[in-house]
Amino acid sequence: MRETLWNQRGWVRLAATIALALVPVGGAQAQNTDYSKVQIKVTKVSGNIYMLEGAGGNIAASVGEDGIVIVDDQYAPLADKIQSALRDLKITDKPVRFVINTHYHGDHTGGNVPFANSGSTVIAQDNVRKRLESGGTAGNGGSVKMDNPPAPKAALPIITFEHDVTVHLNGEDIRALHFPSGHTDGDAVIFFPKNNVVHMGDDFVRYGFPFIDVASGGSVQGMIAAMEKATTMLPADVKVIPGHGALSNLDDVRAFVQMLKETSAAVQKAIDEHKTMEQMKQEKILEPWKKWSGDFIDTDKFIETLYNSLTGSKGEFLKHN
Ligand SMILES: [Zn+2]
Repeated sequence: MRETLWNQRGWVRLAATIALALVPVGGAQAQNTDYSKVQIKVTKVSGNIYMLEGAGGNIAASVGEDGIVIVDDQYAPLADKIQSALRDLKITDKPVRFVINTHYHGDHTGGNVPFANSGSTVIAQDNVRKRLESGGTAGNGGSVKMDNPPAPKAALPIITFEHDVTVHLNGEDIRALHFPSGHTDGDAVIFFPKNNVVHMGDDFVRYGFPFIDVASGGSVQGMIAAMEKATTMLPADVKVIPGHGALSNLDDVRAFVQMLKETSAAVQKAIDEHKTMEQMKQEKILEPWKKWSGDFIDTDKFIETLYNSLTGSKGEFLKHN
């Protein structure tokens, strides 16, 4: 990833990179994301829960007689399209009353300003608000590195929580639960228990090796712990909305966690043998897992991620924690 100002355009480049890596031939995502061309794809997940895909992170929506709750909101220029895709379901004329952010990254919170300006209340974990407010550097402690400018006031969550919060709407107790130190230090997993759906945020993604924002308090150990704990809390047939990629199930989550554990063990073994990060790259110690290597986080970048995560090194550019 180039070292550029990681503004909204940066997240778009990330989304485009992910899309390039994952969208099958014929996929609609363009390399240079032109918002006017992005279409919002709506998939009914279960009952009154929908998944919306456009550019950026996946959105979950509870749409019913009380109104609408969405989880994450992609990018500001897509807000109108997201609103009209929800209206086109013809289930309710009521607005998006609440937006729950799974974490602070711009491809999940970029729409906070337009949604807040049209009357939605944004809810997120305490650290999401802190990081949006202060700005700072995100990254894997190595070559993946992005600067985030402070977000405007209207983007900041109005309601924050430390551990969990429940939104009682559409006959469901929609619960956001904080899992510390996974993808970032402010991750929430969102449970829709009545409909048997969960949104994992970026603690579970489908674009290959995950981006772990070690510079923003993330760690592979926390990501493993979060997904293992969440898995034990969920029914076997739960429908899983990943932060990025196709609708999934718990077997997909387990395969992801297994890869995280195996690759962590391989890097830990090399650390114990006093190998340097460069030696690990030269010796291609993650070769057995190369099918997970993607355009965004390739094998070398994942070695950096795991090394920094396991040694507690967040990179010299850390601005806040
Ligand atoms: Zn993210």
